Amino acid sequence: MAMPDLSALRDAAQRLVGKVTRTPLVHAPWAGDVAPGGLWLKLETAQATGAFKLRGATNAVACLPADARAVVCCSTGNHGRAVAHAAAARRLEATVCLSSLVPEAKRRAIAATGARLKITGDSQDAAGVVAKEMAQADGVYEIPPFDHPHVIAGQGTIGLELAWDMPDAEAVLIPLSGGGLAAGISVALRALCPRMRVIGVSMENGAAMAASLKAGHPVDMVEVPTLADSLGGGIGLDNSYTFALCRDLLDEVVQVDEAAIYAAMRRLYWDGRLITEGAAAVGLAALATGRVSARGKIISLITGSNVDMAQFTATVTGKEVKIGDHWIGGTHHGE
Ligand SMILES: *Cc1c(COP(=O)(O)O)cnc(C)c1O
Repeated sequence: MAMPDLSALRDAAQRLVGKVTRTPLVHAPWAGDVAPGGLWLKLETAQATGAFKLRGATNAVACLPADARAVVCCSTGNHGRAVAHAAAARRLEATVCLSSLVPEAKRRAIAATGARLKITGDSQDAAGVVAKEMAQADGVYEIPPFDHPHVIAGQGTIGLELAWDMPDAEAVLIPLSGGGLAAGISVALRALCPRMRVIGVSMENGAAMAASLKAGHPVDMVEVPTLADSLGGGIGLDNSYTFALCRDLLDEVVQVDEAAIYAAMRRLYWDGRLITEGAAAVGLAALATGRVSARGKIISLITGSNVDMAQFTATVTGKEVKIGDHWIGGTHHGE
């Protein structure tokens, strides 16, 4: 399939009308200390499934051939929920393959859509192998979480909205995992707002795209627990689209540690009154720790709100939270 381009994004935007929310871009006047030229938040938390992944999943499901009777995917949670939602709207059966690292809150939300859950192995890559096997059957189609032109084009519709709403922004901060989101938005902004800097932000530990871009080719990563659980997982050694697009189109990739993500989640809650996942807080974390220089208007993508509420309430009340073998927050500072 061809690399997604601007016209593929515009086709996707047409397909999403009435199925996906055109999300607001909201000024955060409380953030002047980290973004003197102003910070704006693109609230993908307003999607019906609580995350932007509904865009790519809805576009991919809309593009399935007429013989489709079932879909299957692997996911760190939000893609699975989006695929389940989009499949239910088209009356297709859905199976979502998850690793054991996916939080209970995300599993329950997927099961509530009527999709079948398959918990396999301890990495998204292991879950992906199972999804591929299932897609061998007739009429069963795999919808990959990021490395697929229809998924990338769907996520890229965010870039079309940003180009319309704030073409003069200096930079946009995009949480980066498999890179479908960053790739799609970059395709839009490179064409429509060539001066806007496009910056990917990942966590310090287990960031497969960041490591792959440094190595110059896709590399394997051990998936480790992080507050930004939606950013876990590899990019696939046989990556066909997102690695090349991120390599060619992103201006910069920066990484933030768990303590910075924890602090940013707290600030988005207390100052912004927002419930956000760790993955959604990495842009603010990058600004607050000086990983990104900001003079003009900055846009940060708030990608999702599907948090484990016990972990979230502990985080925003400043209690310690266990991430794998480490404690953060509370009396245990840093790691
Ligand atoms: C999937 C996801 C991301 C990263 O998207 P990629 O396309 O995998 O880079 C960021 N934030 C949230 C909340 C997500 O669910």
